[in-house]
Amino acid sequence: MNCYLCGNKMASDPSWRDLFFLDKPETICRLCRDSFEQAPAGCRICGASGLELCGECSHWETTEFAAVLDSGKCLYSYNPAMKEFFHQYKFLQDAVLAEVFAEELAKSIKKTRAVAVPIPMNHLKLKRRTFAQVDRMLEFGGVDYLHLLIKNEEIQGEKTREERRETRGLFALNGHPLPKKIVLVDDMYTTGTTLRLAAKLLKDAGAEEITFVALIRA
Ligand SMILES: [Zn+2]
Ligand SMILES: [Zn+2]
Repeated sequence: MNCYLCGNKMASDPSWRDLFFLDKPETICRLCRDSFEQAPAGCRICGASGLELCGECSHWETTEFAAVLDSGKCLYSYNPAMKEFFHQYKFLQDAVLAEVFAEELAKSIKKTRAVAVPIPMNHLKLKRRTFAQVDRMLEFGGVDYLHLLIKNEEIQGEKTREERRETRGLFALNGHPLPKKIVLVDDMYTTGTTLRLAAKLLKDAGAEEITFVALIRA
């Protein structure tokens, strides 16, 4: 079998783990796997390395977005190997790449014992891609998920100008009853704005605890 990322042939000796069916077969080679860098532990909300509460999150906590995110975890740093992976994954529409991190993402999500809610992808991008990448990773990882959010731009078209003016923010709820504990799932944490907009909407509507898991901390 060949590595999904570099294409090199992988050692085919079955390990004892394979024999006991403990793991699914590896999709990428050891070299590629080792080129990714786990995000260090740090900020209790966004996982940035260093302080227990980072500067950015401290600032968020002084705004109307205070306490909308209870905690979060980013799995990997955005190092050159991850940039390359992400580029391929996002733009080459290679669904098979979804498998590479699916299991790890699934483990972190299951630990939260909350209902997984993907952050919807940009509608414009959806036209270019053939699948919603976060959904796809969750499916590969065997995680049940629930769509609760819709991007406002998707519903703008159906609204009158007046209704449109009243629609503030990036997301709207789709009307599905809300679970009490939610884990938002996104591919990348950059400024945290998207996740906080989603979390605030859900908390204002009655969700009690909101955490998140993101694949990458940019
Ligand atoms: Zn490789
Ligand atoms: Zn932080």
